[in-house]
Amino acid sequence: MLGADDLVRCPVDELDFRPYFTDGACPLCGWRPDDVQVGSPWTHRLDWAVAAFAILVAMSVVMAIVVFVAL
Ligand SMILES: [Zn+2]
Repeated sequence: MLGADDLVRCPVDELDFRPYFTDGACPLCGWRPDDVQVGSPWTHRLDWAVAAFAILVAMSVVMAIVVFVAL
């Protein structure tokens, strides 16, 4: 598994790049290193629609508690 600090050299254009930040492909020609797993930042793995819904639900609960406390 390649992390954020791992460099790979593209054999096509001799470019050193970090696959972690380029979705595993060379930014110039699109070459992908074979048989290596490239990690991805957690911001890419997270499903933002689910995260936004969870935050919405959490805020609704907080607002309901605030209203019942105020009564
Ligand atoms: Zn390349």
